[in-house]
Amino acid sequence: MPNLEYKLLMFRLNTETNEKEIDDEISNLLNDKFGLNICNACETWQNSENQMYWQGEEDTTTSDILDKHGYTAVCDKCFHKLEEQENN
Ligand SMILES: [Zn+2]
Repeated sequence: MPNLEYKLLMFRLNTETNEKEIDDEISNLLNDKFGLNICNACETWQNSENQMYWQGEEDTTTSDILDKHGYTAVCDKCFHKLEEQENN
């Protein structure tokens, strides 16, 4: 991973783009290389395939819960919290 970090650093130093564009670029890189995405709720990096719940890719109940909070994707832990709130 040092190689990726080096590239990201060079990217930051050489670019005129704003903070948001840099963040997007880093997100895209981590997504492409490692299949990682950020949980919308706790903002930690997660494995997209097997540690997250995605809007529109699960059953209706799951999508409804995500919809209600305006989330596109959350990690397992956060989803279970949302689910508990829902049932109380
Ligand atoms: Zn989370």
